[in-house]
Amino acid sequence: MLRTGDVCPIAPGVHWLRMPLPYRLNHVNLWILEDGDALTLVDTGMNMPESREIWERVLAERFPGRRVTRVIGTHYHSDHIGLAAWLCERFQAPLAMSRAEWLTARCLGIDHTPELLAVQRGFYRRLGYPEAWLDRLDAVGNAYAGKVVAVPPTLRRLKDGDTLSIGGRSWRVILAGGHSPAMACLAADDAVIVGDHILPSITPNVSIYPAEPESDPLGDYLSSFAPFRELNPEVLVLASHGRPFRGLHPRIDEIEAHHEERLARVAEVCRAPTTVVEMLDALFTQGLTDHERVIASGEALAHVRHLQARNEISERRSDDGVLRFVAA
Ligand SMILES: [Zn+2]
Repeated sequence: MLRTGDVCPIAPGVHWLRMPLPYRLNHVNLWILEDGDALTLVDTGMNMPESREIWERVLAERFPGRRVTRVIGTHYHSDHIGLAAWLCERFQAPLAMSRAEWLTARCLGIDHTPELLAVQRGFYRRLGYPEAWLDRLDAVGNAYAGKVVAVPPTLRRLKDGDTLSIGGRSWRVILAGGHSPAMACLAADDAVIVGDHILPSITPNVSIYPAEPESDPLGDYLSSFAPFRELNPEVLVLASHGRPFRGLHPRIDEIEAHHEERLARVAEVCRAPTTVVEMLDALFTQGLTDHERVIASGEALAHVRHLQARNEISERRSDDGVLRFVAA
């Protein structure tokens, strides 16, 4: 297993770099693509002194004299583009992302308005959280802005179907929704960079957030696999967490089965009208931290909204404004 801070070649001209994360999920994988005497970086790691030191060391020791001419961000999450501004500024390199991911990052990165917290508070109150819990959430404020600090103010846009020629390989952009608005995945003949979209041993977080409380991200996610199923079954899958792996198609089957199972479980819990908070108590036997509760609530609601889209669950709003869901 590659250790944090280490880099190794994983395919001709493609290097795998593992960066630390301060969570139970303790690492994120990044990719360095050789492009003649230049380098393209895919994702940057989190904005932490430790990650900056790793970049300094890796670029100086392993790629001396090479220029970084492009930074690609797969999606807006802080473990992926936290250092984008720092790297782009340092090398005078453009940031390439999908427009939806960049706009999301720019908006969240600078939003310190009171509306942000008010919308968040109303959202979690409707899920069934008590006032004391909501107060603790308010105290955290805009967690994203604190982690990313700066998102580059200009964009080189990646569109679905674009082709990037890097180091003799042709990488086709596949934009995929669900985990984030339009994650840029890059597919070549022998390798595919999938970001967080398809992970080898865990499933990516597919969540509803306060800004889009009635969306169906799980529907987006489950309908996004078609272009990946068309790829060569032997392709090397470069995912952001865990190890690079082969077996893309069976892994997609497993992920689909996991969500079907989860949907059935949520429908079962909702035989009687149930709030999202009550759902978490039924779905998780161990205690959850506040941060884990935020993630789990968004995920549970994503499954509920998908069941609603399939007309398998309906929503009731009680006088206290709290949402309850009941299976059809
Ligand atoms: Zn992510």
